[in-house]
Amino acid sequence: MMFAIRNYAATMCGTILRSFQIRAKHRLLATFDFDNTIIDGDCYEAVGGFLKQPQETTEKLRKLIEERNWMKYMRIVLSLLHQQQDVSITEIVQRVRQLPEVPGMMCLLRQLAKDSSIDMCILSDANSYLITEWLKANQMTNIFTAIFTNPARVCLDGFLQVDPYEHQTHCDQCPENLCKGSVIKSLMNCTNYNFNRIIYVGDSCNDLCPIQSLRQQDVACIRRDAELHDKLPSHIDNIRSQVLIWRDGHELQHQLELNAIL
Ligand SMILES: [Mg+2]
Ligand SMILES: [Zn+2]
Repeated sequence: MMFAIRNYAATMCGTILRSFQIRAKHRLLATFDFDNTIIDGDCYEAVGGFLKQPQETTEKLRKLIEERNWMKYMRIVLSLLHQQQDVSITEIVQRVRQLPEVPGMMCLLRQLAKDSSIDMCILSDANSYLITEWLKANQMTNIFTAIFTNPARVCLDGFLQVDPYEHQTHCDQCPENLCKGSVIKSLMNCTNYNFNRIIYVGDSCNDLCPIQSLRQQDVACIRRDAELHDKLPSHIDNIRSQVLIWRDGHELQHQLELNAIL
């Protein structure tokens, strides 16, 4: 399958898998984070698990983890694995492809994909290469309309090059390479698509900015007992949308049906 990368709104670029279905009314956009939302694990942990390295580098990486600077972390780890440990991209991809789904999530995603009034996309600070490899391994490539993430490609020498999605300076809640909230706002304000409801599903603090950009008619779906859920009480006043809490795909499906969102 070919993935075309092209600009489709003034400020946005992403891996567009097919056109959004342009219809005037009752469109629903379901947006999913990837790590710990679709997959039960993290790409950065899976890749970082290959590291055997001196303490000094570990400290540097630990700081990036503390800062939630996943893209920089991933770039440094990939270059160490490539240059110092001779870990091949095949080994890395194999490990990522084997990461399990959050229980019940693939079933929910496939069910949503059958509904022609719903567009689905992934909005993630991982990268396009590892995400699409996991989707391919699970026969999920046709489910999503678009993937908004850091673009990545394998170079001729087998190195996985990850580039920033953007260089943003306007949002200090998000890393410089990706403000998830501005992606949501661009989709919301794009008159071609006219989504009258947006569902955002995520687990961690880097999902707070997109959730705070949701409107009253939208739905934030926050993973139970995960990072963002724990910090929710201090942010709830800044969230306009309905909030649903879920532990896995089964509970998320139940919550969406219970609240008449599906
Ligand atoms: Mg996540
Ligand atoms: Zn942001």
